[in-house]
Amino acid sequence: MNQQTLLLLLFLITSFPARAQDMSRVRQTIDTLCSPTMHGRGYIFEGDTKAASYIRARFEAAGLQPIGFSYYQPFFLPVNRITHTPQLQPDGKRLNPGTDFVAQAASPSGQGKAKVLPLDTLIFTDATAASRFFNQDFQNKALVYSRQHQPLLQKLPSAYQQQLQRAKAHIVLQPKALMTSVARQQSGAPVFEALATAWPNKVKKVKFDVTANFEPAYQTQNVIAVIEGSIEPDSFLVFTAHYDHLGGQGKDVYFPGANDNASGTAMLLELAAHYSKPENKPAYSIAFMAFAAEEAGLVGSFFYTQNPLFPLSQIKFLVNLDLLGTGDDGLMAVNGSIHPEEFRLLTDLNKAGNYLPQIRSRGKAANSDHYPFSEKGVPAFFFYTLGGTTAYHNVHDRPEQLPLTRFPEVFKLLTDFAAALQTE
Ligand SMILES: [Zn+2]
Repeated sequence: MNQQTLLLLLFLITSFPARAQDMSRVRQTIDTLCSPTMHGRGYIFEGDTKAASYIRARFEAAGLQPIGFSYYQPFFLPVNRITHTPQLQPDGKRLNPGTDFVAQAASPSGQGKAKVLPLDTLIFTDATAASRFFNQDFQNKALVYSRQHQPLLQKLPSAYQQQLQRAKAHIVLQPKALMTSVARQQSGAPVFEALATAWPNKVKKVKFDVTANFEPAYQTQNVIAVIEGSIEPDSFLVFTAHYDHLGGQGKDVYFPGANDNASGTAMLLELAAHYSKPENKPAYSIAFMAFAAEEAGLVGSFFYTQNPLFPLSQIKFLVNLDLLGTGDDGLMAVNGSIHPEEFRLLTDLNKAGNYLPQIRSRGKAANSDHYPFSEKGVPAFFFYTLGGTTAYHNVHDRPEQLPLTRFPEVFKLLTDFAAALQTE
């Protein structure tokens, strides 16, 4: 054995405990969910349907059962879809869709050329400046302003706001990174969001093109499975993670959503695989819920809590997993301060296992799928990892840049926590 082989062997042995998790399978799950065929898991090219069918197949392969007849819980939501890749050309310079600019999620269709009208920021403090500014013709203008002014514009008197909606297009400049979302309605005028650094100085004219389709009743589905408990099958632990993301804008732009939330979905599938092994059979039943349309405003989880598949009162505890791709700076427990006893249990287990540098706690927040359950009185934590990547709600949230720093440790902590909850 040469020295290199010996070192390799030592490395493999010493790093084995932290790698008990099958990280290559985790990577593969995330890569699959973020692949071009799933197109951002929402709203165009059947991205969400393909992701749902993949998750169902994984549940089935692990031997999990549906609750009732189907793994799917279908529901409908209104959604605005950007069906073609948008175009934006300030003074003849073609910006790159996805990286330089995006159509705002709520944008209606619109195309053409317009003269650029930079927003006069004096309008917010000076009434004369405001009346002068709003007295001009907006109809052939593209209004350009920075993101920080968007909320202020919404507070202007309604006559001014109507005038704003007469503009041919709005271009909102984002200071650091693009950040988009999913909209359940359409705004009045076409809106683009461009990176301030990609927008040239002193632009005179702009050419633009966006095609949107407002779908009042888009069908999507939650994917839900269960492993029956061996001792107390009527008591449930529930793991939830949303599998949807922001979808895409035509063929050429999609949002992979690696951290948000392929990472949490991968954790959900790892937990499903773990508990389906005979040696890990839980005392309580464990339900696994992959929610759709979280990005559209927690639509899938709200729908579930209004149409539960078993009484919500049977849920002893719920753990929601969203944004688990880092962990360099530890873990956040939303609702930690609402359930101090469970939070203490969690931090004790973390110390004993030496898993994460810290677990922070915060109060109630309507920021992910635990929230509709919390509001119905179901005890729940929402975990997200801290530190690492900052790519969020844009095309840069890709698997290659996701460190998964503490993924195996978070898995261990979750299974320790679930075990402790079942012995109470
Ligand atoms: Zn998100």
